[in-house]
Amino acid sequence: MNYDVILIRYGELALKGKNRDQFEEALVKSVRNVLRSFFKVKVRRNYGRMYVELHGEDAYAVMERLKRVFGISSFSPTIQVDPDIETIKEKALELVRQMDPQPRTFRVVSRRADKRYPIQSMEVNRMVATHILRALPAISVDLHEPDMIVNVEIRTEGTYISCETIQGLGGLPVGVSGKVLLLLSGGIDSPVAGWMMLKRGVTLEAIHFHSYPFTSERALQKVRDLAHKLTKWGGTVRLHVVPFTEIQTAIREKCPEDYLITIMRRFMMRISERVAENTNAKALATGESLGQVASQTLESMDTINKVISIPILRPLVAMDKVDIVDISRQIDTYELSILPYEDCCTVFTPKNPVTRPKPRLAVKFEEALDVEALVEDAVARTEIEEITTKPKETTTDLF
Ligand code: ATP
Ligand code: MG
Repeated sequence: MNYDVILIRYGELALKGKNRDQFEEALVKSVRNVLRSFFKVKVRRNYGRMYVELHGEDAYAVMERLKRVFGISSFSPTIQVDPDIETIKEKALELVRQMDPQPRTFRVVSRRADKRYPIQSMEVNRMVATHILRALPAISVDLHEPDMIVNVEIRTEGTYISCETIQGLGGLPVGVSGKVLLLLSGGIDSPVAGWMMLKRGVTLEAIHFHSYPFTSERALQKVRDLAHKLTKWGGTVRLHVVPFTEIQTAIREKCPEDYLITIMRRFMMRISERVAENTNAKALATGESLGQVASQTLESMDTINKVISIPILRPLVAMDKVDIVDISRQIDTYELSILPYEDCCTVFTPKNPVTRPKPRLAVKFEEALDVEALVEDAVARTEIEEITTKPKETTTDLF
């Protein structure tokens, strides 16, 4: 049997009024974005439900793409039928019959959103279940833990039957939470941090500090490729590429070795804050995790935070590395992240970085530098690239 629509359910959160509208609009947009270039389908919404009308497209191919849309709690391949009870019984049976493997137990759950419908939902449940039991002697009813639930929704806009429910990604639709600027390195953590922020509904831009020729063109390309991976969930990601060589060189010449990383991070934050202001991002995000490396202690975070006032979000702060790696595999960034192209931090890693830096000392050491001029110059020379969802070849082939 061919399915007619995919029924999409989304968090029945405490969303009311304007918020709900905004949430639904953003979700419709995300769903359209992932399907548009591949299928001729129609997306519409109606009172807390969303439908993808398939018009002959393959339900499973469409659902594969819905699995990457944040804000969807679950979805079901569904047939749309005439509302008369005989048709509902017949079609429900047909649907159960084609399930592979065949369920051993089932229950019918019907919802009568259209209160004008003459039969009450309990009665619909009973009639449909009886019809299925008569036709399929091997199957029985289990109200508590059925192998399969046959869903019948009787709504004003149509009557829908489905018996398969697939988990969505959860989270919030991209775009409802405002914009965040992600500090994206070539490592494992920051792409995961970006993905987690996308999950909470932000629009993502990324900033990368590049130290050519200490770091190679390939290292920058790797960052583009990582940003490209994130477009799978977030749509276009604008990447701000900051030339960082002059600043790193100045720090290395003028500041004590054990404070190199701390001071370098403070510059990254200052520059990121300026770029965030220019692009209207409300917060920065990093891939830091407490205690993971020397520069990720509370003292270090404090010393780094001190130079800016924009919030820094650290979605991985309480996560173990193994769990971060797990996510990076799931989102397919791991293999890229472990490619051995040096990033600017590995090139400048001092032997004994301070683990508990003092803000007072960082300020003192920075007196040897013209901080404002260095920051302004780097911001002025920052280049913006649009990383789009287009297949990667189109970006990579340019280099
Ligand atoms: P990652 O795996 O994300 O590189 P990490 O474990 O290597 O993180 P650090 O090198 O200490 O940790 O970096 C901490 C965070 O600082 C990164 O997660 C990232 O958000 C940011 N960061 C580091 N280097 C850069 C860079 N060159 N450009 C942009 N952001 C950076
Ligand atoms: Mg790193």
